[in-house]
Parts: sequence; structure tokens; C-alpha cells
Amino acid sequence: MSIWKRRDIEIAGFHGCPFFNSALQVASALQGIGAIGEVTVIRAGHVHSPKWHSPKDIEPWTAFKAATFQSGSPRIVFDGDPKTVVDSSQFVKRYALALKGAKLGLPDSVTADPAFIETLAAEGASPIWKSVRGTPAYREFTSLDPPGKPKYGVMHGGFYFRDYGCTSGNFPPHDDFTYKNWKCGCGQVKLALEGEPYFNLDCHCSACTPVSRYLDAKGGGQGISAIVEGTGVAKAFYMLDKVTFVKGKELVRGVKLGQTGGNVRAYASCCGTLLIGDSPVPFAFRPFNRMAITEADGSPYRPGQCWGCKGGGNSWYDAIPEPKHPGDPAWLVAKVEALQKPGHGLGGLGSFEGDPTPGFFPDPASVDEYISKAAWS
Ligand SMILES: [Zn+2]
Ligand SMILES: [Zn+2]
Repeated sequence: MSIWKRRDIEIAGFHGCPFFNSALQVASALQGIGAIGEVTVIRAGHVHSPKWHSPKDIEPWTAFKAATFQSGSPRIVFDGDPKTVVDSSQFVKRYALALKGAKLGLPDSVTADPAFIETLAAEGASPIWKSVRGTPAYREFTSLDPPGKPKYGVMHGGFYFRDYGCTSGNFPPHDDFTYKNWKCGCGQVKLALEGEPYFNLDCHCSACTPVSRYLDAKGGGQGISAIVEGTGVAKAFYMLDKVTFVKGKELVRGVKLGQTGGNVRAYASCCGTLLIGDSPVPFAFRPFNRMAITEADGSPYRPGQCWGCKGGGNSWYDAIPEPKHPGDPAWLVAKVEALQKPGHGLGGLGSFEGDPTPGFFPDPASVDEYISKAAWS
């Protein structure tokens, strides 16, 4: 494979692991010369957690290692393709020669030595961290794998971090936080979602369904369809203070149903993936396209059926499986009403207050794109 075709990579390891750090160093160098694209770093606590005998950590540590390691060392995957998996040493060996002359972030005295490159090509990761130990470059080397609060959905040093927790080391308990990812079909728009949604529902109404079908057609199969059960639009409602925009905000566009429609839905213009379906009301939450959400381990988020039908006059209402409701179901009304109690801030916009991202809280008059009701109902 050629590294000159820009590919995204994912590196999974433990904080503080020298092999992991070496892989990060090489990834950083490759990114620096434009040989690879996005680097996702997945960490799960500290490499020494099992030695600290915290039973709460050993189990997730072992599970993470079993799921993500390759030949006993940090795993690297190219473009999410399981067939491309290599371990950190193979990764370093493969690119050592390509990086000769490029900045590896190591002292010149080390990289200028032809023997170093030879050892690297033969042995893989360990010569890198052995060489850097005790040098002034050590701090820079380890800064690629920073301690401190877990980093989830943040960019740091050109890497996108997705940390899991553990009770030991610098991370909080793994029970204390969970995150999910929202990612469009082509990956250019990405958000991090903290915890579980406030609620989920599938809306089969005569506005949500046509807009989602329009976007599916517009994306030409490149986007992630929000349609479930034939006519439902899968939504996960998140309070906006639990939402972090990671990248691609500039790609978000708004679309209305009908030229004078007052309800703007947001989508990723790169691939036509519905991002936020519905609601002109300034609630503190927004309905995100649930089908584009993955769990922290990368598996799809699938909470099961969650009907919330509206618009009982739909021509497709009879075809919707039970349980269905011609209007808002009681559980949904209760969920929304709960926010009207003091301290919950029905109208509070969380961290998105004043956010001009199209589709979050836009002025419908400022949105040009609309679809004809007749064509999509
Ligand atoms: Zn996209
Ligand atoms: Zn709807």
C-alpha cells in the first residue's frame, strides 16, 4: 500500500505505553508530511492499571486489550478497514524508511545515525522510545499522549482523541462518563455526544419523513439515512450542553419543507446526511439523526424501537407497525413538560446559545433551500 494516498488511521492503546507513544510519534510525522489524513487516538486508561490491582479497572482494561490489540501491542487500522490492521511495531517498520529524512521528533543525533533507521526497520517501535529517553525531546515525545482529564471529541496536536476512563492513573472512573460519536456518511462532519440521549423517538410524520427521503436522494447513497421501519425518522434528543462539535460545522446546511416552511432541518452538505431533524422551538435539546450515532467502541447505537408518531393523517399511517400514536405519545409529552419545571430551562440553549450553525436555531427566512411538499409527500 502506498502512504502517498492519504488515508485516515486509528490507533488504539493505553496511556503511557511506549509502543503506543512510538506509533503516535510516527503517525504525527506522517501527518506532518501530508502522507496520512485524520488520526484518531483511542486510549483506555493507563498501561499500568492491572498492576495497581483495581478490580474495577482490570476488567475493562483486559476487554479493551482483547478487542483492540494486535499481536499484543497497540493496533493501527487504516480507513476503518479491518483487513488493514497492523500492530505498532509493524506500523513503525513499514514507514521507517519513508520517514527517513522526515522529522520523527527525535534528536538529530539519533535520526542522523543510519544505524538507527536500520534498527527501526528491523525491530519496529522500541528503538524510538529507547532513543528518546533521557533526551530533551522526551517531553515533546510524550506530549502526544497527554495525561490529565480524558479527551473525548477533542483535537490535540493534530489527533482526534477518544479516551475511555479507569479508576487509576489520571483518568476518572470509567463509570463516570460515556460518550458517543455522531458522524456523517463521509466523515467530514463529526460531533461528540456525552452520555445517553434525553430521549429517543422515531417520527413518522408527514414533514420529517419527506425531508429525510429528500436528503437520502440528494446524498446519492453517500449519507447515512435516518429512515427506519419504512417511514420513521430515527432521532436521539440530546441536551445541547452535552454536545461538542468536533469538525465540519462549516458544511452544515439548513433545509425547509416548502418555501415558506418555518421548520429548518440541518444536514451535512458533504454527503446529505440528516444531522438535526426538526423543531423551530428553542428547546435546550435537538433531535440528532440517531442512525449516524456510534457507541464509544465504534458499534452502532441502536436503542431499539421508539415510536413517537405524529400526523395521523399520513397516507402511510396504516403501514406503521405498532405501537404507534396518531399524535405525541404521553411519555413524550411528560419528557418535554419535565423541562418546564424550575431549573431545567426549557428555553436554555446550553452551549449552543447564539450558535449560528445552520439548522440549530436559524431564522427560517435566512434559509434558501427548500423542498416542494408535493414532490415528497
Ligand atoms: Zn459527510
Ligand atoms: Zn416529525
